[in-house]
Amino acid sequence: MILITGAAGFIGGNFVHHWFERSEEPIVVLDKLTYAGNPQTIAAHVGAGRCTLVQGDIGDRALVSQLLQTHQPRAVLHFAAESHVDRSIHGPGEFIQTNMVGTFELLEAVRSYWGAMAAEAKAAFRFLHVSTDEVYGSLSETDPAFSETTPYAPNSPYSASKAGSDHLVRAYHHTYGLPTLTTNCSNNYGPYHFPEKLIPLMILNALDGKPLPVYGDGQNIRDWLYVRDHCEAIRQVLAKGRLGEVYNVGGKNEIKNLDVVQVICRKLDALRPKADGTQYEAQITFVTDRPGHDRRYAIDPTKIEREIGWTPAETFESGIDKTVRWYLENTQWIDAVRTGAYRDWVNQNYGAR
Ligand code: NAD
Repeated sequence: MILITGAAGFIGGNFVHHWFERSEEPIVVLDKLTYAGNPQTIAAHVGAGRCTLVQGDIGDRALVSQLLQTHQPRAVLHFAAESHVDRSIHGPGEFIQTNMVGTFELLEAVRSYWGAMAAEAKAAFRFLHVSTDEVYGSLSETDPAFSETTPYAPNSPYSASKAGSDHLVRAYHHTYGLPTLTTNCSNNYGPYHFPEKLIPLMILNALDGKPLPVYGDGQNIRDWLYVRDHCEAIRQVLAKGRLGEVYNVGGKNEIKNLDVVQVICRKLDALRPKADGTQYEAQITFVTDRPGHDRRYAIDPTKIEREIGWTPAETFESGIDKTVRWYLENTQWIDAVRTGAYRDWVNQNYGAR
């Protein structure tokens, strides 16, 4: 049994699918089901009885302790977070509460559970913390990519709150000996991505005939990784990672935001040509830049490649092809997310919040 926080979200949800394609070991999910958590993403596994979904807050130490006691997991994988940079700029409070205070409460519950374990189980236990490359700040076009020893320099309330959680995890290993692992990953894309994020937003706006809003001059660079490659990296770090270590995860796919949008447009031109014969690129519009917008992120994945033997399976071209096809084929999931139908489903199944 493993316990995963935040697995009704984008990466955690994909991780659950990825896990059950390779393992029968059951999962218990703790998720607050915020606007970003959609239980439909993992409903098939819940329905099949191999995955238990508990609605609750990682900051609720008593609830986490009770779940640990009841399910006796051999590992806790911590995905839950407030994750959207723009939202953190408009309202940082939730980010501090969940990403820092919530992670602290979770760590305290886990420390107490782990401390009381029998010696063998205690030695085998793992706490894996899922984090972001944004904690390292911004690069110029000529700087070397982020490595695990790059000093932290977070620039947004989101990245600062994630940096805080990373430091707590590090401290729990050094101070209490908690067997932790941390992964810092670049930008993910793929199925089940909430349509406020760049790639799904562009796909869906393009199909709706709406403007494709590109921040500033569109020259900001991100390192993109297909979400299933990230999930495989996490699975392998859980199995083989050295205790207390940090692993950077990236796809060596540095791409300018404008180029990402143009690739999506060309893919849609091929897969779903517009009836009037015009091209999707005509919908691109440049909008005022995000305050404090980091210019470039790039990950050096040498350590995870060398120590763990992980490399991504997808190129950006193959991953974006899968992603665009998924959004074209899964209109029910998309409609539910956009209309709030899944919120009604949550209220029905878990009670209104
Ligand atoms: P997401 O926003 O899609 O999902 C987050 C999930 O956490 C949701 O299901 C939400 O309901 C849940 N949640 C939020 N607050 C909670 C709380 N207090 N208690 C319990 N559950 C709560 O996020 P994501 O994109 O899947 O990201 C998952 C993790 O990976 C985050 O820690 C994020 O920082 C990290 N990460 C994301 C990316 C990316 O590109 N998306 C890249 C690197 C790292």
